[in-house]
Amino acid sequence: MTKPQYEKYCESTPTILVKETFGNANIYSQNTQSLLTKATGFIAAYDFTLNPYRGCQYGCSYCYAVAFSPNPKMRQDWGNWVIIKQNAVEVLEKELNRWCQKNPGKFPKIYMSSVTDPYQPIESKKQLTRRLLEVMLEYRPILVIQTRSPIITRDIDILQRFKHLRINMSIPTGSEVVRKDFEPRSPSIKARFNALTKIKKNIDPLKGYVPKISITVTPLLPTLPADVTNFINQLQIGDRIVIQEFHSSQNRLLVATTRQEALTIKQKYAWWYENEKVNYLVFKDKLTSLKDIEIIEGKDGFTY
Ligand code: SF4
Repeated sequence: MTKPQYEKYCESTPTILVKETFGNANIYSQNTQSLLTKATGFIAAYDFTLNPYRGCQYGCSYCYAVAFSPNPKMRQDWGNWVIIKQNAVEVLEKELNRWCQKNPGKFPKIYMSSVTDPYQPIESKKQLTRRLLEVMLEYRPILVIQTRSPIITRDIDILQRFKHLRINMSIPTGSEVVRKDFEPRSPSIKARFNALTKIKKNIDPLKGYVPKISITVTPLLPTLPADVTNFINQLQIGDRIVIQEFHSSQNRLLVATTRQEALTIKQKYAWWYENEKVNYLVFKDKLTSLKDIEIIEGKDGFTY
């Protein structure tokens, strides 16, 4: 047990401060009562969301998940802490077992993850997501993995064993300079596209299942004019592109902290945001020139 640096946190839940920092993040470890959460909102089509971690080292400036921080201090410090759900593997096994007994002949629909990145940097060391995938395999879920991390390629050997898998790779801009402003700790755009290429190249359809691939351009951030053509071309690696406008949520107290950060960055790109609706439509129009790719706007794009 530890007294963490976040006042009033962990007083009722036994928490271990893992003896290391990973990058700049403080890493904690806790047992969890449950892992599968009933899916609601834009992913209500699923039975469950599954978040192996609480918090996210990528700390994107526009992240809505900040609202699910345990307290205001941690909300402010989004990106600098992660809680590992220590007993997640055992809990998942029990929960899936129970669900399948109650729903014979059905396969659970799972969205991993809604408020964290299951392949954030700590995953390369802890391998929690990998172990959860191993448990899920047995229950033959319809699974969507939402990430922006090339670490996912480490698990190709397991991913190819899922018959119903969609990988949603978040790539909200085609310009590195914009990516570095809005999400400076996240993997480069190149690394994300390379990861998708690696997945496609390394799964032999005769030996494994090739996952469906979406690129989630959500929220749609500006792409510099010089990068647009290249970005559109690269997007062809997916079978679906999801786009969504930047959510303005200035009046929502729970997301104020990082939202303000993103709003400040937006000012730097006034040339794009002053005409956001038009620029959104222009980008969407360019996407429609792509062949054999679904272009879906908003929450409908997050279905399996
Ligand atoms: S990777 Fe996803 S969950 Fe993590 S900070 Fe960025 S938007 Fe939030």
